Formats: sequence, structure tokens, C-alpha cells
Amino acid sequence: MPNNLSQPLLTLLLDSLPDGLLVISEAREVMYLNQRFREMWRVPKHVTARDDRELITLVLNQLKDPDHFIEVVERAYQTERHFIDELEFIDGRVFSRRSASLNSDMHGRARIWIFTDITALKEADIDVLTDVYNRRCFENSYTDWVASASERPWSALVMVDIDHFKPYNDNYGHLAGDEALRKVSAVLKKQVKRHSDHVYRYGGEEFVLLLSGRDRASLLKHIENTRLKVLALGIPHEENPPYAMLTLSIGCIFFQQPHEPFALFHEVDKQLYKAKDQGRNCLMVSTLLP
Ligand code: GH3
Ligand code: MG
Ligand code: MG
Repeated sequence: MPNNLSQPLLTLLLDSLPDGLLVISEAREVMYLNQRFREMWRVPKHVTARDDRELITLVLNQLKDPDHFIEVVERAYQTERHFIDELEFIDGRVFSRRSASLNSDMHGRARIWIFTDITALKEADIDVLTDVYNRRCFENSYTDWVASASERPWSALVMVDIDHFKPYNDNYGHLAGDEALRKVSAVLKKQVKRHSDHVYRYGGEEFVLLLSGRDRASLLKHIENTRLKVLALGIPHEENPPYAMLTLSIGCIFFQQPHEPFALFHEVDKQLYKAKDQGRNCLMVSTLLP
């Protein structure tokens, strides 16, 4: 059997892969893209590998966070490292993006970019009522998130609970309860903008936020704003005295180093209970110093 693949066989092989492949030179010129890349990124037939600008515009226009896309590309070309991350599309699709360095005398320091459509996998992580990440996803992410605390200046584990939500359901009905859950989730989702931050529906009317920030004071303000924004929705709730509006109690713990995940969770739960004890509609915080 010949050792070298013929050009037609090589082309067939690369075009038959289930992943999209893209090779970009150190000068950021497109050197190669396979057929699957064209399908996945919906590249029109008339656009060729030579139309670098058109291609990059086409790619960026489909993404929720185009700045993040560029930032990672720029960082990648400064190292030889492999890495992996995820790209969220405006239309709801999610791709995994992997990259490896391709050094050769002929082409210099190029990089290969491999895209895999993981939308179906991600859907299993989403809560159908509220469209935020579900408990399953939280269980799979939490320990790693705590373990990587040293990579972030500050981390905040936040537990959010809707106040007197059982009486809300009893008074206004479960459909209204579902609608309120969706409205609260939409606020939480909006507040969690950073690429590395996430919101999970932990259960019933409880949510967990995993947040990070440069300084503790602005993170704290941001979390307090979340409480205020839900209050500002102005959802009537007669059984929630003295506010008569739908409100949140929030427990939060700030830390900078990895800790025992279970102990950390226990501590944030304690803060939430304190918030309930203090009369609800408030935020209780504890800070772990390194
Ligand atoms: P607290 O202020 O102490 O948190 O009181 P609470 O009434 O909010 O807490 P409790 O745990 O007693 O009740 C939570 C309620 O949340 C129970 C249930 O009626 C409601 N709930 C949980 N999941 C859903 C849901 O998916 N839809 C609706 N409509 N209600 C839900
Ligand atoms: Mg609860
Ligand atoms: Mg509650």
C-alpha cells in the first residue's frame, strides 16, 4: 500500500470529516478550509479561501460574542499550545473550537482550527422552562470551576432564591408562577454577561450563579443590582409582605483560591438562610481570605 495519500483521496478524506477544518497562517491568511467548514459556517459558494475579509466578517456576524472569538485567536498565535473553548451562535447553535499549532518550514507558524457542532449536547444542559443551564450541567461544572479559582482575581458563588414562591403559586396559579420564573431567569441571564460566568437553575425557584471579577466591590455591586433588577420588574406578590412584589433573597461567598467544593456550597447556603432570616429581599455575603 502506498505510504503517501494521493491528492484526490486526501481532499475526499478532509471533506468527509464530520468536523469543520480551517488553517490560518501566522499572517492571518486563510490557507485551507474543508467542505464541512463551509456547511457549518454557511459560507456561500462564491466565497473562496482567498476572500479572507469576507470570511472573517461572515464568521463574526454569526457569533454572540465576536470580541471573544478575536481575542482567543490573537492569544493563540502567540503560543504553540493546544486549546479548546466554545462558541455561541446568535441562532442558538454551539460549536466546540479546538486549535493546534502547525509549524512547517514552508508555511511558518500556521494554526489548524477544528470546529465541532455540539448544539445537541448542550441542549441536554439547558432547563426547558427557563432556558438557563440546568442542575445536571451545574453538577458537571461546579467542581472544576472551584478548582480553577486561582486563574481568576475574584470568584463569587451566588445562590438566588425567590421569596415566598409557594404562596405566589397558590395565589396566582402555576402558569403565572412559570411566567415569573421565566422573567427572573431572563434578568439573571442578562446579568451574567462574561464568557466565563454562568447561571444555573439549581431546582424549583433556586438559581446558582458562578461569577468572576477583577475586584470584589464591583462584583458585589453587580450582584446587588441583580436583586434590584428583579424588584424593578414590579411583579405583584401580595403574599410577600412588606414588599408586595416578587423579590429575591441572595447568599453569596467571595473567594480567591480553590476550596473544598462541598464546604463552599454549605457556606453559601448558610448566607442564603441568613438573608431569609433578615426579612428576605436582601443579600448576605461572606468573604474567604486566602
Ligand atoms: P422562601 O421565601 O422561604 O424561599 O419560601 P418559598 O415559598 O419560596 O419556598 P418553598 O421551598 O416552600 O417553595 C418553593 C415553591 O416553588 C414550591 C413550588 O410551588 C414552586 N415551584 C418550584 N418549581 C416550580 C416550577 O417549575 N413552576 C412553578 N410555577 N412553581 C414552582
Ligand atoms: Mg427555595
Ligand atoms: Mg423560595
